[in-house]
Amino acid sequence: MAHTSTSRRAALASGIALAAAPLTAGLPREAQAATSGPIFDVPRISIPIVGSTQVFPVRRIYCIGRNYAAHAIERGSDPTREPPFFFQKPTDAVQNVAPGTTADHPYPSLTKNYHHEIELVAALHKGGRNVPVERALDLVYGYTIGLDMTRRDLQNAMGDQHKPWEIGKSFDHAAPLGPIHPVAQIGHFTKGAITLSVNGKLRQNSDLSKMIWSVAEQIAQLSTAFELMPGDIIYSGTPENVGPVVPGDVLVGHIDGLPELMVRIV
Ligand code: MN
Repeated sequence: MAHTSTSRRAALASGIALAAAPLTAGLPREAQAATSGPIFDVPRISIPIVGSTQVFPVRRIYCIGRNYAAHAIERGSDPTREPPFFFQKPTDAVQNVAPGTTADHPYPSLTKNYHHEIELVAALHKGGRNVPVERALDLVYGYTIGLDMTRRDLQNAMGDQHKPWEIGKSFDHAAPLGPIHPVAQIGHFTKGAITLSVNGKLRQNSDLSKMIWSVAEQIAQLSTAFELMPGDIIYSGTPENVGPVVPGDVLVGHIDGLPELMVRIV
């Protein structure tokens, strides 16, 4: 925090009008003077908020990997020794799914092994660097239920080659989720059932209390690597028994205290 304001003061003192020209920041001075605006509009991504006409604007989507012991084991990790690791999905991977509806979710290109991962998602309305665990939950505005959809064959193939497995995780529509429930209404989630069924058959079935790293610990850890900002959301990891889906399958995700998340693969 102190570092940010110091940098800003220094920049302003040196005559760079950061605040006055946000759309052209980074362009040479002569280009800034001549620029009237963007050549086209890019949609702003947001998530509905339960009980509000306002929406939650999304800045970044962070995801934690292997955060339930049994899932870490099924993915080939030792859950007792490995620190948490994070990856990102692009912000526009968000697919908003209204409670009580079953959204069509397109089967993506390139994969022959498309997997579900049901997860609790935390949405931040405050940011910070090096946030202590004891204060981390102050950053959380609310929670929802989400699917971290995964092209598992591509993820595994890239991992085998020691290449980034972004193509397995970061693609269009890869982040279906429900509306955000403010903490003020539902509190924080530290325990409770988390399940996913496919065509009425239970696939994933665990409890939030089995997370290796709690949401507060995830925020504290993440904030050592990145400056967290309002609008960041965090997928908190999936329990064991991830598995494939095919077109026609209906997925129903459940977390105690939240409405179900329902999608049909098309
Ligand atoms: Mn995941």
